[in-house]
Amino acid sequence: MTTHTNSRAGATAHPSVRAPGARYVYDLSEGNAGMRALLGGKGAGVAEMQRIGLPVPDGFTVTTAACVAAMEDDGAWPGGLWDEILTHLATLERRTGRTLGAAERPLLVSVRSGAVVSMPGMMDTVLNLGMSDRAAQGLAAESDDPRFAWDTYRRFVQMYGEVVEGVPGQAFEDELTALKDRRGVRRDAELTADDLRELVKTFRGVVRRSTGHDLPTDPHDQLRRAVDAVFGSWNSPRARVYRELNEIPDDLGTAVNVMQMVFGNKGDTSATGVCFTRNPATGARERYGEFLLDAQGEDVVAGTRTPRRLPELESVLPGVYTQLLDTLDRLEQHYQDMQDVEFTIDDGTLYLLQVRTGKRTAAAALRVARDLVAEGVIDRPTALRRIDPAQLDQLLHPTLDPAQATTPLTHGLNASPGAAVGTLVFDADTAAERGGAGEDVVLVRWETTPDDIHGVAAAQGVLTAHGGMTSHAAVVARGMGKPCVAGAGELRIDVAARTLAVGDTVLTEADTITVDGTTGYVYPGALPLVPPQVTDDFATVLGWADDVRRLGVRANADTGEDAVRARELGAEGVGLCRTEHMFMATDRLPVVQRMILADTTEDRQAALDELLPVQQADFEEIFTAMTGLPVAVRLIDPPLHEFLPDLVEQSLLVQRLEADGTPGELERARTLLAHVRRLSEANPMLGTRGVRLSLLHPEIGVMQTRAIVRAALAVRGRGLDPRVEIMVPLVGYAEELRRMREIVVATADGELDAAGVTDLDYRVGTMIELPRAALTAGEIAEHADFFSFGTNDLTQTTVGISRDDAEGSFLAAYLEAGVVRTNPFASLDADGVGELVRIGVERGLRTRPGLETGVCGEHGGDPASIALLDELGVDYVSCSPYRVPVARLAAAQARLDGAPGEA
Ligand code: ADP
Ligand code: MG
Ligand code: MG
Repeated sequence: MTTHTNSRAGATAHPSVRAPGARYVYDLSEGNAGMRALLGGKGAGVAEMQRIGLPVPDGFTVTTAACVAAMEDDGAWPGGLWDEILTHLATLERRTGRTLGAAERPLLVSVRSGAVVSMPGMMDTVLNLGMSDRAAQGLAAESDDPRFAWDTYRRFVQMYGEVVEGVPGQAFEDELTALKDRRGVRRDAELTADDLRELVKTFRGVVRRSTGHDLPTDPHDQLRRAVDAVFGSWNSPRARVYRELNEIPDDLGTAVNVMQMVFGNKGDTSATGVCFTRNPATGARERYGEFLLDAQGEDVVAGTRTPRRLPELESVLPGVYTQLLDTLDRLEQHYQDMQDVEFTIDDGTLYLLQVRTGKRTAAAALRVARDLVAEGVIDRPTALRRIDPAQLDQLLHPTLDPAQATTPLTHGLNASPGAAVGTLVFDADTAAERGGAGEDVVLVRWETTPDDIHGVAAAQGVLTAHGGMTSHAAVVARGMGKPCVAGAGELRIDVAARTLAVGDTVLTEADTITVDGTTGYVYPGALPLVPPQVTDDFATVLGWADDVRRLGVRANADTGEDAVRARELGAEGVGLCRTEHMFMATDRLPVVQRMILADTTEDRQAALDELLPVQQADFEEIFTAMTGLPVAVRLIDPPLHEFLPDLVEQSLLVQRLEADGTPGELERARTLLAHVRRLSEANPMLGTRGVRLSLLHPEIGVMQTRAIVRAALAVRGRGLDPRVEIMVPLVGYAEELRRMREIVVATADGELDAAGVTDLDYRVGTMIELPRAALTAGEIAEHADFFSFGTNDLTQTTVGISRDDAEGSFLAAYLEAGVVRTNPFASLDADGVGELVRIGVERGLRTRPGLETGVCGEHGGDPASIALLDELGVDYVSCSPYRVPVARLAAAQARLDGAPGEA
């Protein structure tokens, strides 16, 4: 994260006030890969390709600093920028021997956005700029191909109209379709030069009607406005959403690349395409790409036409194909990582237009990392640094059970792996709304467009009728780990009617489908999914992480099933087992309530006696799954009223029964209400819970301790090795722990004596989750065999923010307004809570050298928090089972210098 820039004060972070001699435009030949921050990824990449001798079109780059300066000044360009652009344009014209938009030898350029961090398709680009009637005549004469000239012109009007003039793209598509219908043709390629000339006129009419003015014909005018529009596209809604999803700062700005056009739309010796040096879905070392003959780049990446697979290029243009493969090899060797490349073939000549580190699925990230190490290209630390830990939980998405696959509805391209089940939605807003409300939805679109990003983010998966594997949306879906089937050509989608049809089958918004992005098949209904398997790549790469990390990684697990899963994913024990979750199950809650409501000690004991074997059985499962590894069981924590009905609801029930209930029902409801009232607290988070509750009602702790020890004995009896840790929550005073420990130890030893066992070790420790506990850790450590920092409560009590009340309201507002930079519940607050952890560890260790310390809040699965905790010297983190791999990798990265690389 860079420093926050607000208005003029940002002048130090970004050179909005120009230093003498500083400038805003760089020639292509002046750039290189190291200049990303200034030239954007695209500009730096193209410059680097030219530097190493690959064929790229000539051009120049307006820096990100220029965009930032303009943003800071309400869109006004910094002084001198336009003159600089004109100077560089003149140089480009001289070098190419062409003049922008001239009647003879016209120069046409693309005006391309390019951010520092790649944001595929989220900002704008205009192709064929400089076009006008005059330039079209020139281009037609020069190429002796009027059709090509008019095709180029109509593309220009369309893109310029959309990007610069803000005309809805659909208006152009509709006219194009109407013309094809009139001519009785299906493909664009079947339109003649005269047709296209007519289309240009129609398109210009569309612009005029929509904006009230003519498309500018002065090429300089076009250029100035296009650069400005590209600056502006930094703040387009989809770009903002993408940045938010990917935590990209809003103040970086985009560079603008002005490059000579090369033409893929010159007939069958020309083409445009996108390819990856390896398969970005699986990571396999194979050529992966697509192309379209007689087309321009936008046709592939926008997903409007479904392109052909790269290997087919061999039979069409064999020489260029070989050259392209060589180039891919060179680029991968040069960057030592999988690359994503855009190319265009202009009448048999190959040009590279873009290179970037290929976005990949988590599975591909692991495979590529492993292969590159095996191939001797990179070392293990480099491989580990490159994998984004947050991405790993993609691997834990369920997949389709092949045994259960039924007759598919249809199929398309397997654009992003994994399986998704959800009800159909036909537009991104609905997907965002229903998906955001927790419903599983599959977003179905005719084509994938970057504007759908908020819908994709909220959907389980994506299905499209058009578009290829390298379309922007497929790239984005892979980056987000959303299963995606693209280009399912048989689909007939009626957005207005909200239906989807294949042959005679018609599905509506009420229907559910299953999308398998691994195979490209789509099934009606909800098919069963299976949990993901731990692959070889996963085990290998995470094994490297295990070799490097210092922090231990445990899991928070409340059931045997969770514990099994956690162990499979590499957990080295259970750091938090929440016993009260065991009380919540529907068959147990009535017993728990009887225990709470009991009037006599006998009644209470009877309920506890009923609960004991149930808890014991739960613990047995967990100890079994974790044999040989420590399991920290937390004694009851929440206030008792959490097990009872809500006060308001119970009052309403009583009112209702007063009107129409039987006397018995009313009596029972009233008694319960009295108990709820008695137990209700103004501030339950700070009320009768944790160790306070256990000291008030020792019999609960006694029952739980018995259940734990009996479970351990039973499991040991089966030849396994349970490692018992009993954890006391919410201790603030050393005396609380001293007393509770006495109860636990007396009970546990009593159980062991009764069983005649002398060699079963158990440890009694405490949670550190109150500031007072951290500060008095020295005294508390006298009674604790271990510490576990409960960073959720510790954050609530340190910052004085109730999480449940804050996250939906003022904390969200604070984040939005920049009062706080990060949500302290998502990422550990280093200056406050982090300090208390440091103090707690230090003071605890001073009293008891060797004291084991862990962290069992959700922070234990957050990479940034893990880096901090590594520094603070705790021994382990504990997180939910599915975060365990994330934590293993993040803990390794914390030990490697340098931030995680961009994947
Ligand atoms: P995006 O970031 O949306 O991919 P690009 O700036 O890469 O936008 O451009 C969109 C498409 O136009 C790409 O396929 C690109 O290869 C193509 N393109 C860009 N500049 C040129 C050019 N000078 N000549 C030919 N095609 C170009
Ligand atoms: Mg591009
Ligand atoms: Mg707690």
